[in-house]
Amino acid sequence: MRRTHRIVTILSMAPGERVTVYGWVRTKRDSKNVCFLELSDGSSFRNLQVIVDKAEEEKSPVIDSITTGASVEVTGTLAASPGKNQSIELQADSLKLIGEAPAESYPLQKKRHSFEFLREIAHLRPRTNTFGAVTRVRNQLSWAVHRFFQEQGFIYVHTPLISTSDCEGAGEMFQVTTLPLEKVPLKEGKIDYSQDFFGKRASLTVSGQLEAEIYASAFSDVYTFGPTFRAENSNTTRHLAEFWMIEPEMAFCDLAGNMELAEAFLKNILSSVLEHCSEDMKFFNQWVEKGIIDSLEKVIDTPFTHMSYTEAVQALKTGKTNFEFPVEWGSDLQSEHERFLTETVCKGPVIVTDYPKEIKAFYMKLNDDGKSVAAMDVLVPRLGEIIGGSERESRLSVLEQRIHDTGLNPEEYWWYLDLRRFGTVPHSGFGLGFERLIQYVTGMQNIRDVIPFPRTVGNAAF
Ligand code: ATP
Ligand code: MG
Ligand code: MG
Ligand code: MG
Repeated sequence: MRRTHRIVTILSMAPGERVTVYGWVRTKRDSKNVCFLELSDGSSFRNLQVIVDKAEEEKSPVIDSITTGASVEVTGTLAASPGKNQSIELQADSLKLIGEAPAESYPLQKKRHSFEFLREIAHLRPRTNTFGAVTRVRNQLSWAVHRFFQEQGFIYVHTPLISTSDCEGAGEMFQVTTLPLEKVPLKEGKIDYSQDFFGKRASLTVSGQLEAEIYASAFSDVYTFGPTFRAENSNTTRHLAEFWMIEPEMAFCDLAGNMELAEAFLKNILSSVLEHCSEDMKFFNQWVEKGIIDSLEKVIDTPFTHMSYTEAVQALKTGKTNFEFPVEWGSDLQSEHERFLTETVCKGPVIVTDYPKEIKAFYMKLNDDGKSVAAMDVLVPRLGEIIGGSERESRLSVLEQRIHDTGLNPEEYWWYLDLRRFGTVPHSGFGLGFERLIQYVTGMQNIRDVIPFPRTVGNAAF
């Protein structure tokens, strides 16, 4: 059993060729003498139209048992199609039912289903138009990420998923235990995880950054791209408990170099998806976020706006007064502020720099003013933050002081401090949430709908 071609290839082939295809029936239309099947094998947004001459199939009950969702094998000859949306169709001379999908129980019917409903059948939603398109765009983006960094000579480093450092300091870590729950020791009535991982404390990583810094301190330019975990106990359309992060880390690179790379990188992968997923992007443009293709093209052609956190606070205070969370110098920007900056003030992506040190992680380089750090967040319309980055603190004594001031245990960071003890260099990097990027590119509103298996509060089933 082997196909001769995937449907994506067939759709641009010439009439007259013989092919064997496999796929799932998306729709079936019957007329008196002919039956039309729309067949998908996942390789293209477009389906292959199959024409079955009922007179020839009369002897066989096969055409009657083929319904939406069934899997089939078709062999036939390609013919020019009179249809306006396709140039080629398949005249079947052999049709086999592989797996039936009884109409009374198959959940995916022709009508449009709500995303909420589809989340409950995450095992079948890849067979819908939207999730087909999301999955191909996700695939193209991950390929483009690797290609971009590889072409620039970055080394891909696999950072650990089990780790001990809460690098963001947000206390959103999932603890790892090797003990049966009833044996987890208690300390003052609470679970004591400090000895859980074969006698040590460990958790699932919230970011691969600190470990990536180790490799940047030997290979200059590295990146990591893998799953990260955060015990986000909130219900937003932008947060998952398990998400993928792209984290480049560059030695001999300051904040300006970091921002330059982030902008070039985003523009490069946006171009790549517009080029290689044009059918899928047309679908998003028409059905999910009107005008998204034009707006991404404009982003590619326009330099990002830069502003300092202090300027951003000023713009927010003068621009609008009735935010849910009031803005004061020193408070973290909430998504309503980030959206206001990108949608109303700047009308496009914005890089905000030099945040107050109190609201950023300990590892960011302290600026000369002693109050702010060399941070940069890239904010985009509709979503707010998609990238968080910074120049890292490379001075040993300043870093020790920051660890002390943040209340972290310096003993746990002995290896991180060693990087500043031996051959320290200015270095920088950033983290881009992969699912937020996919939301940005597709216009999909809920982050649960751009990852195959969303992990959120109350959802870890499949
Ligand atoms: P936010 O303010 O949106 O909670 P953050 O500042 O906590 O994000 P960082 O620690 O800066 O996030 O992580 C870097 C990037 O990872 C973010 O810019 C975002 O794109 C992504 N990200 C962070 N948390 C999540 C999450 N829970 N789910 C999906 N993506 C996330
Ligand atoms: Mg957060
Ligand atoms: Mg943030
Ligand atoms: Mg951040």
